[in-house]
Amino acid sequence: MFSKILIANRGEIALRIIRACKQLGIGSVIVYSEADKDSLPVRLADEKVCIGPANAAKSYLNQRAIVSAAKMTQAEAIHPGYGFLSENADFAALVEASGICFIGPTAENISTMGDKVAAKAQMVAAGVPCVPGSEGALPTDSDAVIQIASDVGYPVIIKAASGGGGRGMRVVEKEADLLSAISLTQSEAKANFGSAVVYLEKYLQYPRHIEIQVLSDTHGHAIYLGERDCSMQRRHQKVIEEAPAPGITDEQRQQIGEACATACQQMGYRGAGTFEFLYENGEFFFIEMNTRVQVEHTITEMVTGVDIVREQIRIAAGLPLAYQQQDITISGHAFECRINAENPKTFLPNAGHINYCHLPAGCGVRVDSHIESNYTVPPTYDSLIAKICVQDESRAQAITKMQGALSEAQITGIDTNIELHQRLFADKGFCEGQMSIHYLEKWIKENI
Ligand code: ADP
Repeated sequence: MFSKILIANRGEIALRIIRACKQLGIGSVIVYSEADKDSLPVRLADEKVCIGPANAAKSYLNQRAIVSAAKMTQAEAIHPGYGFLSENADFAALVEASGICFIGPTAENISTMGDKVAAKAQMVAAGVPCVPGSEGALPTDSDAVIQIASDVGYPVIIKAASGGGGRGMRVVEKEADLLSAISLTQSEAKANFGSAVVYLEKYLQYPRHIEIQVLSDTHGHAIYLGERDCSMQRRHQKVIEEAPAPGITDEQRQQIGEACATACQQMGYRGAGTFEFLYENGEFFFIEMNTRVQVEHTITEMVTGVDIVREQIRIAAGLPLAYQQQDITISGHAFECRINAENPKTFLPNAGHINYCHLPAGCGVRVDSHIESNYTVPPTYDSLIAKICVQDESRAQAITKMQGALSEAQITGIDTNIELHQRLFADKGFCEGQMSIHYLEKWIKENI
């Protein structure tokens, strides 16, 4: 096991990783920007190294500065958290080439999964169900493209192979719009992601977003930790997540989970990962894999009792998984509300000084957050300031528990989306579990 880990991140996830280190008796080093110098994770880590100014390009994305900090402090491994460099294959390669362990998959796995065309091909080979569409990148021949789209059936969606963050996608309703939509998506993809490669998929009308959490060690052993429903999204950003997904049977969970675990074994995957699917009419369709710990890993931890960050660290250290598949059971139901510092009407990020902060606690309530009274939320980074999570025996009981937890939260001085969450947890459709990926956008249009 490592004796010291460097954390290349900030905010709640940095704190989450520091806690895992403390619980494993491992020393922690945090790198930070000048904007975060007084933050809770920087105060709680055993050692700290300032790596640059607030601008992330010059600090949290500065690969050489981070590796130098690890060498200087003799950290043996780097945990990248999520966002920033967590899915950057070049960074993973640089870290490993510097003789430091990257807590995550190999650079090769990261780059394959970062290319959605290559990722889909890998999934098809492993028997993971994918959205029907073009086999790989779209050909240049117009007639061939028109034929592919008509075989798939309209509406279709054109997607950039290297797209991310919900960008680089265009829905096409009819053949007359196809070719112009493809060339637009290609030029946007080239400008935004540096590659004009696009592919085509059937556009699913009312799917849910359901994802499978996996853990895979370096001894050829992979397990799945059930699923999460993340259909409550605004602009492709998740707002509420829950585990398990309402209505998914044990047989369905086992079938899709085993396919994901097999895919991990086939590609020699290392660490924690998430297979994201769209789910419609009882069928799963793979859309992408995230090769890192996710924001919403917490709710899987609550229903399975498995500490995912601890497992990431153990796997990176070369230890075998501490669990067999039969050890994993799903207990009750958990929800996560992402609390953002944002304007409740415009949803624009809203940084500033928090005068007073009280976050909920209690039996079955977990809050992961780096904020506190008198903390100033910097305008530079993501607006996520807290994750309020609850677990209880049933979905209905977990809803009531979340209502209670939200009513206790007090954050004064800045705007947050707490009231939005309170209204959603009182919404009949959501409480009955009638979501699709469009539910929240529609609700916002009608209610805000
Ligand atoms: P990104 O990497 O940008 O997040 P994804 O491939 O994960 O891209 O897709 C993001 C979102 O776009 C999905 O959660 C879903 O809302 C929508 N989407 C993607 N592909 C399809 C599809 N084939 N049909 C319907 N919606 C889709």
